[in-house]
Amino acid sequence: MAVTAEVRKEQIRQAEEVLGLEGRRLGFARSLFFGHFRADLMFPWPQLEPAEQRAVEELVGEFRQFAETEIDPFEIDRLADIPESVRHGLARLGMFGLTVPREFGGLGLSQSAACRVMEAVGSVDASIAVMLNAHHSIGLRVIVLAGTEEQKQRWLPPLARGEVLAAFALTEPNAGSDAASIQTTATPGEDGQVYYLDGEKRYITNGAIAGVLTVLARAPVPGREGTHVTAFLVTPDLPGFEVVEARMPKCGIRGTVTSRLAFHHMPVPASNVLGRLGEGLRLALTAIDYGRITFGATCTGAAKVCLQAAVRHACTRRQFGQPLAEFEMVKEKLASMAAEVFAMESATHHAAALMDAQTGDYMLETAMVKVFASEALWRIVNDTIQIFGGQAYFADEPYERMMRDARINLIGEGANDVLRAFVALVGLREVGQQLKVLADAIWRPWEHWLELLRFAGRRIYFSAPQIPVTHAELAEEASRLAHDIAAFGKAVESALLQYRESIVERQFVQKRLADAATDLYLACCVLSRLDAWLDRPDESGPALLNRGRLFLAQASRRVRQHLHALRDNDDALTTQVADDLVNGYRAGVGAAPSPTAGAGAEFA
Ligand SMILES: Cc1cc2nc3c(=O)[nH]c(=O)nc-3n(C[C@H](O)[C@H](O)[C@H](O)COP(=O)(O)OP(=O)(O)OC[C@H]3O[C@@H](n4cnc5c(N)ncnc54)[C@H](O)[C@@H]3O)c2cc1C
Repeated sequence: MAVTAEVRKEQIRQAEEVLGLEGRRLGFARSLFFGHFRADLMFPWPQLEPAEQRAVEELVGEFRQFAETEIDPFEIDRLADIPESVRHGLARLGMFGLTVPREFGGLGLSQSAACRVMEAVGSVDASIAVMLNAHHSIGLRVIVLAGTEEQKQRWLPPLARGEVLAAFALTEPNAGSDAASIQTTATPGEDGQVYYLDGEKRYITNGAIAGVLTVLARAPVPGREGTHVTAFLVTPDLPGFEVVEARMPKCGIRGTVTSRLAFHHMPVPASNVLGRLGEGLRLALTAIDYGRITFGATCTGAAKVCLQAAVRHACTRRQFGQPLAEFEMVKEKLASMAAEVFAMESATHHAAALMDAQTGDYMLETAMVKVFASEALWRIVNDTIQIFGGQAYFADEPYERMMRDARINLIGEGANDVLRAFVALVGLREVGQQLKVLADAIWRPWEHWLELLRFAGRRIYFSAPQIPVTHAELAEEASRLAHDIAAFGKAVESALLQYRESIVERQFVQKRLADAATDLYLACCVLSRLDAWLDRPDESGPALLNRGRLFLAQASRRVRQHLHALRDNDDALTTQVADDLVNGYRAGVGAAPSPTAGAGAEFA
């Protein structure tokens, strides 16, 4: 049954509280919803400092050397385990503490630098990438973000050295995408020195092998009613900590340990509360930005491997008397792969740089990178398999494994559907608030002349923002992108005027706006990067420019299609068909046809 308007309102209120959007200056992606282009956040294209660039190159070189001799992704998949020797080798390289500050024994890299390293990891093995991401980007990240000095001193050094693994435990049987539904409880003991945790967690990466886990549970907060999600540092030696299932067998990333855990009246010292009571969800959301951006990097790494392999195969395999690469349908796949790889890499670098600059508002960008990169990799693996034909279907080639491994990226750290709704609603929020003010102003223009004037100004601004590219070669692309941004701003406003508050229920609309916004953001990143590249073109020559241009052209076409579909669509019929299925199932008759039913059975 659908939730009531009251419940929805309360959910929105809670979400707003967790997101802490109030008063924050609009970041790059949120500005797009106004039809604006914040040039200060996109130009000049961010680069690593030369010293850090050298450090990254050195580390990536060492990692690749280690991987060549010591990492066997086939074996990791077959044995469903990452060998101890690999973990030790990664630890020696410092991979468990990439961004941990040096004072706590880490390498102290920026997020941008860490993403370059994680891209290399993603190109070698997805299980290692996910294990490291769970440990580093979310697991220990919460301690870096919110730990007390004592907690940092105690935990960060062994975590950074890889002697202890970290895990992050949010998901429960009844709390997946809906993280606020967490039911694990944390009941304070009488002396206030301890909290007793009761509940279950599932699908926890590193769960059974972690030495420290951040567990989210509901605790009472002085001065507030009810219980609120709070983060606790938990060690597996606590009485009442149970590993229900250490390694859940799964589709891909089989080398990772994914666990089910239970806590039975488990006493956790009050000194293990991480951050403030009741701020667990906010902390989780902040940490997850780092996880999402790392997905962008690791997906890029895997996508580059596929692209290289697909080109090689297309050039060497001959059919009908010519290499596969001569067929236009193969060319189309190769070209789109190259364009998307360029875009996912660009957006990952840009969003990571926003995080390093602590611009404060980058949660849409990290969500967009995660959605785009995970889906682009899925398409790229699929196209690679198609180009390889039957050969890719067998387990002596890496592609069937890469396909299984890649699937998790669309689900983990926020299912992509949920992230699309998130991107749209957070992006729409500010515009919606301004339009609400405007609606009041129209009835009392003499009191609200300033708002009306601003609105009029914005409508003029819709004529297209300035995108300050310095190279004439890109002027046409910049102008097209500026027009697309303006058209998007108008479409946002129209959608809000049409649906008003009910837009929170309109996921067809949300999806189109989120996808258009994502393409616009990625296009801006690609354009800015090309502009910087033209300052000092390297040996890649016009090839790189062409890839970027192809992405810009494809993204622009998709944006226009999404905006067009806001007016011309099959939404009503789609809803009807889905509702028929659901109602049929509920009534127990005419249920969705069984997959084993014979052809035509569904029409009987
Ligand atoms: C291998 C693996 C490792 C994981 N590691 C961790 C970990 O270390 N720590 C941790 O806490 N969790 C972890 N997870 C859990 C993961 O984050 C969740 O699986 C994910 O958040 C989705 O939750 P769910 O599986 O309960 O799916 P559900 O919430 O039941 O959602 C199922 C589907 O319903 C749709 N859906 C749900 N809500 C909406 C909505 N509002 N709008 C539109 N569509 C919607 C989406 O298509 C979604 O994919 C892991 C999961 C896997 C598979």
